[in-house]
Amino acid sequence: MKFGTKLIHNGNEIDKTTGALSIPVYQVSTYHQEDIDKGQEFDYSRSGNPTRKALEDTIAKLEGGDRGFAFSSGMAATSSVLSTFSSGDHIIVCEDVYGGTYRITTNFFNRFKLDITFVDASDINAIKGSIRNNTKALFLETPSNPLMKIIDLKSAVEIAKQHGILVIVDNTFMSPYLQRPLELGADIVVHSATKFIGGHSDVIGGLAAVKGAELAKRVYFVQNGFGAVLGPQDSWLLLRGLKTLKVRMDYQQNNANRLAQWLKTNKHVKKVYYPGLEEHPGRNIHMSQADGAGAVLSFETVDTEMAKRFMKNVKMAAVAVSLGGVETIASYPVKMSHASIPKPERERLGISDSLIRISVGLEEIDDLIEDFERALS
Ligand SMILES: *Cc1c(COP(=O)(O)O)cnc(C)c1O
Repeated sequence: MKFGTKLIHNGNEIDKTTGALSIPVYQVSTYHQEDIDKGQEFDYSRSGNPTRKALEDTIAKLEGGDRGFAFSSGMAATSSVLSTFSSGDHIIVCEDVYGGTYRITTNFFNRFKLDITFVDASDINAIKGSIRNNTKALFLETPSNPLMKIIDLKSAVEIAKQHGILVIVDNTFMSPYLQRPLELGADIVVHSATKFIGGHSDVIGGLAAVKGAELAKRVYFVQNGFGAVLGPQDSWLLLRGLKTLKVRMDYQQNNANRLAQWLKTNKHVKKVYYPGLEEHPGRNIHMSQADGAGAVLSFETVDTEMAKRFMKNVKMAAVAVSLGGVETIASYPVKMSHASIPKPERERLGISDSLIRISVGLEEIDDLIEDFERALS
């Protein structure tokens, strides 16, 4: 079955008790137990809920995992997965990882003696050189945010396997439609489902898909133990969003391609970062591990003034953090997502004051280009 069909027919599309074509919102905390001597599938909604389970089974199927988990946010998914490790374990994290992940690893998990090293993971030798005896996992994100750097997932998996290290991938930017790290040998995928999976800027949620029963058990223990679970209503919204993932992504990606090509020709734009562009440094690796370049791009204007002018004058894009919604969103990383990173460190990473990130939406591309042209001039 092709991916787009799987979004509609994945075994979780029909409610087993009523035949409803939409899994009902099981707004319930506890369940009547027929026989206290017998176990039953659902007994308490932190431990399991039918609406959440339909979503969890769906993400497992879509990512090619053995088990799926739904959390109250993308950060809850990442934090819960990191909580499966123990004090003294060493984890290698790609250096331009999502800001929230940077924050919890440097200000929270370090207090529990999780040993973290940040590396430029687009350089496979840098990963190799950071492996120690106590290294337990690689935590990767590709393409990265906001500069769309690419990590070679197959090579990273190969190195990890040689050393018995787990590979965790934050797959938020691509979604399972465009990239399925578990099929490339990774062990755990995490998502901010707030972005493309939800797709409508109306829900905060996180997902994980895991390979292997043993690892799934470890993640389930934390999910049930910590209890950062997704509620039934939000689970339903994500199930609903997933049904249109492919058509949204196809259209938004096509828009992003057109916009990236156009931005390149604009005299107020200095540089465009998009893995769909011929000249993008990681393009070949990206296209060998993903089925498209996605719908997020960044660009640098000629100077800071121009970037500020664009952010002030753009009308067709909402000025906001977040991405992956039906509406185009423009964000200014140095004042928004990356504000907490000290300026010298930001500059070392290449995140300048004239950088703008765009999550391209479902508007008609001619309208977007016309508006961007006006905002830049
Ligand atoms: C937004 C985001 C997160 C965090 O997800 P929340 O749902 O906001 O908690 C993690 N990783 C990436 C790549 C993101 O874009």
